[in-house]
Amino acid sequence: MAQLSDDCFAFGGPMLSVDDAVGLITTRVNAVADLETVALVDADGRVLARDIAAPLPLPPFTNSAVDGYAVRNADLPQKAEQALPLDGRIQAGGLAQAAIKPGRTARIFTGAPMPPGADTVFMQEDVRLDEVGRIVLPLGLKPGANVRPAGEDIPEGHVALRAGQRLRPQHIALAAAFGLVRLDVVRRIRVAVFSTGNELASPGGPRAVSQLFDSNRFMLMAMLRRLGCEVSDLGILRDERELLANGLKQVAGDHDLILTTGGVSTGEEDHVKAAVESIGSLVLWRMAIKPGRPVAMGIIGGTPLIGLPGNPVASFVTFVHVVRPTVLALAGSLPEPLLPIPVRAAFTYKKKIGRREYVRASLRRAEGGTLEAVKFPREGAGLLSSLVETDGLVELGEDITSVEPGQSVGFLSYAGLI
Ligand code: AMP
Ligand code: MG
Repeated sequence: MAQLSDDCFAFGGPMLSVDDAVGLITTRVNAVADLETVALVDADGRVLARDIAAPLPLPPFTNSAVDGYAVRNADLPQKAEQALPLDGRIQAGGLAQAAIKPGRTARIFTGAPMPPGADTVFMQEDVRLDEVGRIVLPLGLKPGANVRPAGEDIPEGHVALRAGQRLRPQHIALAAAFGLVRLDVVRRIRVAVFSTGNELASPGGPRAVSQLFDSNRFMLMAMLRRLGCEVSDLGILRDERELLANGLKQVAGDHDLILTTGGVSTGEEDHVKAAVESIGSLVLWRMAIKPGRPVAMGIIGGTPLIGLPGNPVASFVTFVHVVRPTVLALAGSLPEPLLPIPVRAAFTYKKKIGRREYVRASLRRAEGGTLEAVKFPREGAGLLSSLVETDGLVELGEDITSVEPGQSVGFLSYAGLI
């Protein structure tokens, strides 16, 4: 299992900034070293375990980029359009029977190999036939036009995919273009997920009048799966320190990460911190982030634990900013920093200096085509509707104290977060 050094940090001290907290966590988790081999069709979302150098150039041979007529550079029209007799026809997948002769042109199709001697291709739309059936080539084409030289995309031997790359469809396409059928990837990160709280009932089970159905666990499991994790659903733990401690201890040995939600605040019935301290050590538990704030990070038997807050929006936001980078670090993934896109604020907002805040917002196109972020009208961290009915989060950095309409702000789309 991934090991985490358990030297204690920032405990009880001032709130850590998001960057410092994440830096602390991610530099202290060791990447999982176990690999497995998967078929290309199963590789989406997995983390590549080894560099891949191009075993062949791409494209593998010089070919035509268009449907048209291939000629030698020496036969390009110089002063006036020029008519050349047609000699030869090369289809995609075919081969020229012979080198192109001086003063001749060959019919060629997109992706067909260039006949020996030919350097340039005229698009079929740019030529015409004369009365004796010759191909009339216009002036103005540059030597080498409409030809894709072998290796122009990727030369043979070039390291085209790096270890740590989280594979997306385009990376899989590249591996396929190299003729590969299997890839070595990091094994899935194993995450144990618990909800905590006496007020929680599992969907499908009975619900007492003072209970609500557990929504966070299903949100977090879905987010973890999107990050390629293997998830153990460990249900709901009651608000009792010992029960929590036992539950956490049991799963530490065979998971790379333990994730809990709820019970990390300072109320008397928030027992996650105390439970972690009783069986492991707490690394930090206060982060300057809203929604969120209390986020616990600890180590139990060498396995990292992240305790997220219980309010659904706080849980979502802290997952994105704390759990996501931790999972990526555990998988040895190359960093994938979230880069907010500048949009125009269509709202007023006041905030405390020194903490980072995320405002739920929808995008709309303003006059002139600029994108505007419209803030969700209510702010409660428990409002699931605020996540469901918006497009993403406006990130307000530690230094910002207010936002005025028209100001440029950074926007993170939900689509790009996970
Ligand atoms: P806590 O962080 O335990 O103090 O919980 C804060 C708020 O979030 C309370 O109103 C809880 O009922 C609610 N909450 C905690 N856990 C969950 C969960 N798994 N799903 C939905 N709401 C939750
Ligand atoms: Mg609770």
